[in-house]
Amino acid sequence: MNIILLGPPGAGKGTQSARLVEQYGMRQLSTGDMLRAAVKAQTPVGIKAKAVMDAGELVSDEIVSDLIDVELATMEADTGAIFDGYPRTAAQAQILDGLLEKHGRSLDYVIELEVDEDALVERITGRFSCANCGTLYHDTANPPAKPGVCDVCGSTEFKRRPDDNEETVRTRMQEYRAKTAPILPGYEARGIVRRVDGMASIGEVAAAIDAILK
Ligand code: ADP
Ligand code: ADP
Ligand code: ZN
Repeated sequence: MNIILLGPPGAGKGTQSARLVEQYGMRQLSTGDMLRAAVKAQTPVGIKAKAVMDAGELVSDEIVSDLIDVELATMEADTGAIFDGYPRTAAQAQILDGLLEKHGRSLDYVIELEVDEDALVERITGRFSCANCGTLYHDTANPPAKPGVCDVCGSTEFKRRPDDNEETVRTRMQEYRAKTAPILPGYEARGIVRRVDGMASIGEVAAAIDAILK
């Protein structure tokens, strides 16, 4: 099974991907996570991408597609892929078709998380993650059970993304509207788009996705 999770920043792609990985042993391919790792390691790609990411703009199609290509090459044929935050442009969607073919895969579903834009600013400005294991949290919607302690690994260190501020979020949403949303009709024509109400609770969204995948 190979799926794309599509939705604007804060829609819940990362949260749902983590759950699918846990539950079904699928692999999450998040270009955002790969880019942040490259920035942290100060690789040539990371150095190039940092300013673009801080501004909330899109990194080049070639850079992100190469990251996906490399990742797909390491995967066992029977491990399903969850594309999280990729493709984000028409060019990337086209490149992905070629990459899937190259790696002997085909796309089963494009799951669109439908969300209300006003709620996204609140989601993103409240987002933080465990500095040790990466588990995602939210200040009000999804805090750790014990304040200040990660549910999964017990760490007391947390971090926030530098681009999770209101101003950058607005730019990221514009990028989504202008460049990413237009890739949907092409997938729709193939009959593989499924819509999920991303404003429901995390558990309800998970159940809706399970109903599609079963
Ligand atoms: P979010 O989860 O909030 O949607 P991501 O973690 O997916 O954000 O992406 C963070 C940033 O990384 C983006 O704002 C963009 O600068 C860059 N990025 C991630 N994926 C892509 C992509 N497929 N194409 C271009 N830029 C990307
Ligand atoms: P994306 O990867 O699409 O940018 P995330 O999965 O990182 O989105 O979610 C953004 C923030 O919203 C996180 O802090 C997460 O805990 C929270 N969140 C995710 N799904 C929901 C939901 N269904 N309801 C409320 N908050 C959510
Ligand atoms: Zn943790």
